Amino acid sequence: MYISTRGGEEQLTAAQAILKGIAGNGGLYVPEDIPAIDHTWIANLQEMNYCERAQAVLNLFLTDYNADELATCIQAAYGADKFDHSEVAPVVKLDAGSYILELWHGPTSAFKDMALQLLPHLLSLSLEKTGENAQIVILVATSGDTGKAALEGFKDVKQIRMIVFYPQDGVSEIQRLQMVTQEGNNVAVVAVTGNFDDTQTGVKQIFNDTAFNAQLAEEGYQFSSANSINWGRLVPQIVYYFSAYADMLKQGAIETGEKVNFVVPTGNFGNILAGYYAYRMGLPINKLICAANSNNVLADFLQTGCYDRRREFHKTLSPSMDILISSNLERLLYHLTGENAGQVSEWMKELNEKGSYQVSEPVLAALQHLFWADWASDSQTTETIAAVHEKFGYTCDPHTAVAWGVCEKYRAQTADQTKAVILSTASPFKFNTSVLSALQGSFDGADEFVILEQLSQLSGWPIPRQLAALEQKQRLHYIACKPQEMAKTVQEILNNK
Ligand SMILES: *Cc1c(COP(=O)(O)O)cnc(C)c1O
Repeated sequence: MYISTRGGEEQLTAAQAILKGIAGNGGLYVPEDIPAIDHTWIANLQEMNYCERAQAVLNLFLTDYNADELATCIQAAYGADKFDHSEVAPVVKLDAGSYILELWHGPTSAFKDMALQLLPHLLSLSLEKTGENAQIVILVATSGDTGKAALEGFKDVKQIRMIVFYPQDGVSEIQRLQMVTQEGNNVAVVAVTGNFDDTQTGVKQIFNDTAFNAQLAEEGYQFSSANSINWGRLVPQIVYYFSAYADMLKQGAIETGEKVNFVVPTGNFGNILAGYYAYRMGLPINKLICAANSNNVLADFLQTGCYDRRREFHKTLSPSMDILISSNLERLLYHLTGENAGQVSEWMKELNEKGSYQVSEPVLAALQHLFWADWASDSQTTETIAAVHEKFGYTCDPHTAVAWGVCEKYRAQTADQTKAVILSTASPFKFNTSVLSALQGSFDGADEFVILEQLSQLSGWPIPRQLAALEQKQRLHYIACKPQEMAKTVQEILNNK
């Protein structure tokens, strides 16, 4: 069963937790018990493909979904029509101590696909299991990656409507093209004439507008969100930690029981938290290394025990990590305080009211026992992209480069020789201009598709098929609105169909 990090009597099944997303008291749902596995269970994963590995892990957490249901969801999510690599999340060896886990072979070329390809199918089943009849309207405010991944995941899923808002001038050209050409009968994409904060605030206001919610409920609609605090987005991410480990065993890179380090480029703390659950289940992990960009609130926290969001916000080359409030950290704190919901509620209240909180010495010690953290600046990120290309002939995106840079700092400071898996969260083609200028110094402000072609030549990789296809795709979405007109726009979109 699933319970809230902020306490209360409520116990939910996985299906209910996925449908509800966030607890009524503001807490996040966590599993009451974390399943345990042993070395034999892990060794058995070696001969399985990704879908079978996903089935093995998800069975342990989503106990109210039966094996057939899970198998159907998993096939729909990770099939060859969705992922352009047969291994789904392959491990690439760079040298004897360093491996890259590529999480970007999905339809939108970023790691959000690993979860957002599966979540819609889990949610659909949740509707069936809980007997919910309403049309679910998913609202997303996006700075680029999440919106497109959610659109791809939720398109044409029955009983679900989806509206994505993006800041008109706040996304990259590729990201804009990905969204305005989105197909699917249940999706709408809206450009907001404001920045990302305006857009996100607009969506939050709609969620909190009780009168508007009541009116829509009468018309048979219920709002929901697809953001990374939903358990249904977290649980699929546990799979690839096991999958990477099984691949390394299979390649003979490690021995049974050997510990590895995972280095994770972190924003909302969802990806690295999935690694924590894998660790708790029994995956041999030495350190989880949290890599941040200059929005280094998490790195400071893991070093000092003080979480302080009162700082300047930086726009960086790794925009998907430009976050000052890492929501999923709340789950880790819950587990590390011995499930002390009262303490967690207090810290979250302090964060909300004064912008900071300080954890106790024992909690900081528990954090530092498993986690290590540091950050990389934009100039270090650019240098890393060039250095990794030069040394290994491997082209990485800015988010992955942040992780690589922090991994090097860790090695220099600790002399730890444990093999490291660096989680690669985006295809370099998705952040084509940053990568190309890192590799070439500078380049002419060419057309998007010319840049992709140049990057293809430099990396030796084909342009991901969905990005190449954008050139021929028709624009399907033209709606634009002011931040204060977002609710009205939602109403109009829902009335039109
Ligand atoms: C979302 C995202 C991240 C951050 O992941 P979290 O789970 O929020 O920590 C890192 N890199 C890329 C490319 C992303 O899209």
